[in-house]
Amino acid sequence: MPFSSLGLSPALLRAISDQAWSAPTPIQAVAVAPALQGRDLLASAQTGSGKTAAFALPLLQHFEAAVPQSPRRLRALILVPTRELSTQVGEEIRFLGQHLPRALKVSIVFGGVSINPQMLRLRGGADIVVATPGRLLDLIDHNALTLSGVATLVLDEADRLLDLGFAEELNRILALLPVQRQNLFFSATFPPAVQTLAQVLLREPVRIEVAPEPQTQPDIAQRVIEVDAAQRTQLLRHLMAQNHWSRVLVFVATKHAAEMVADKLRKARINAEPFHGELSQGKRTQVLADFKASRLKVVIATDVAARGLDIAQLPVVVNFDLPRSALDYIHRIGRTGRAGEKGVALSFVSAASDAHWRLIEKRQGLSLVREQVAGFEPLGVGLAPASENAATVPGSGGIKGLRPSKKDKLRAAAAARGQ
Ligand code: AMP
Repeated sequence: MPFSSLGLSPALLRAISDQAWSAPTPIQAVAVAPALQGRDLLASAQTGSGKTAAFALPLLQHFEAAVPQSPRRLRALILVPTRELSTQVGEEIRFLGQHLPRALKVSIVFGGVSINPQMLRLRGGADIVVATPGRLLDLIDHNALTLSGVATLVLDEADRLLDLGFAEELNRILALLPVQRQNLFFSATFPPAVQTLAQVLLREPVRIEVAPEPQTQPDIAQRVIEVDAAQRTQLLRHLMAQNHWSRVLVFVATKHAAEMVADKLRKARINAEPFHGELSQGKRTQVLADFKASRLKVVIATDVAARGLDIAQLPVVVNFDLPRSALDYIHRIGRTGRAGEKGVALSFVSAASDAHWRLIEKRQGLSLVREQVAGFEPLGVGLAPASENAATVPGSGGIKGLRPSKKDKLRAAAAARGQ
């Protein structure tokens, strides 16, 4: 199905052609038409599916058709869980809206930076606001914007919004919105809290669940390498030298680890920077810009900071520390292999994180062949005593909300006996 059959305006088709997108992704193919008709959507969508354009294109077309208001009246509000996602979504909307006959004002607002420049930018109003919930409420409290004219609300990554504890903020925001509005609801997963929110929010929504087609399924080779914890930085350096990776995103469990690994790499003359929630927003923006522009080879990130990162041509993601949850594993590896590119996701497993890896594998229905790299063969993998179950080992993170079950303890004990 070509884009031209979706009923989009020439200005939007031109922006799509600027992007060199040859055809709609599956979610775009089914979401755009009902959203253009003003229907509510309940979409199950993964990062990388093209979901941003799936809601942005109809929003922009509605804007194009609307009678201009002076001053500008906020027509569409997009709520996202993180600063990085707000920037990505806002920039994609600006790009897609660049040929509209009337100039569009998209404001991107997020916390962790001074509120004043954002207030200044909102002077004279905005057509579309992309926001994290806390900062949006701050701006409303400062009378910098009002939601009374919002015709469309988008919740992007609703599961992450709730995961990050934004339920209360969401309720406050919903109470400020006009009752008559279109709601576009996107989430990767649908745990009970997300389902309840969707029920409260949506009116006779069109349900969209697109099974990933083989050609759109990310092409990510998942590999697991056994290595002693103390050898991981050396192994990372070795793999980088051997594979000539242009860019590497490395995940660690804590900001301390991010700083430490980046430090070690820099000492080895590798251009690396940490990326975690305690860096200033200015620093985070700079690290990302340097990484995207290939001025920086390695970014060592924590999960909180890296959520929603969209870096084109990222050939490899390394789980230096394993993620806390199986869901985080999916989010992490989804940073590579985007938009049809090939990607590699490597996970380092040591004796201490061995049982933890098995839990992630079990939850993901994976069964990967364990690899070892010559010169880095571990002395300890598979020999973890029961007390070294990953859920109890500092630094491994442990599976969120999960204590080792009796079965896991037995399994770890068996492994310890070398069975
Ligand atoms: P998203 O799921 O919205 O984060 O999009 C993931 C990536 O896919 C982004 O880099 C988009 O620019 C890209 N993308 C979105 N729609 C298309 C399309 N129809 N064809 C090719 N790439 C696309």
